[in-house]
Amino acid sequence: MTNEKCPECGGEKLVMNSEGLICSKCGLIISETYFSGNEVVR
Ligand SMILES: [Zn+2]
Repeated sequence: MTNEKCPECGGEKLVMNSEGLICSKCGLIISETYFSGNEVVR
């Protein structure tokens, strides 16, 4: 269950970007390597 919150503004609207998990409210990058270790290459 991914019920993460933004530690900066407390917003629950997190969007998955190519860079990682980003808060859509303040634009803070919460986790850059969200799929670290389980990355699909190719
Ligand atoms: Zn935020």
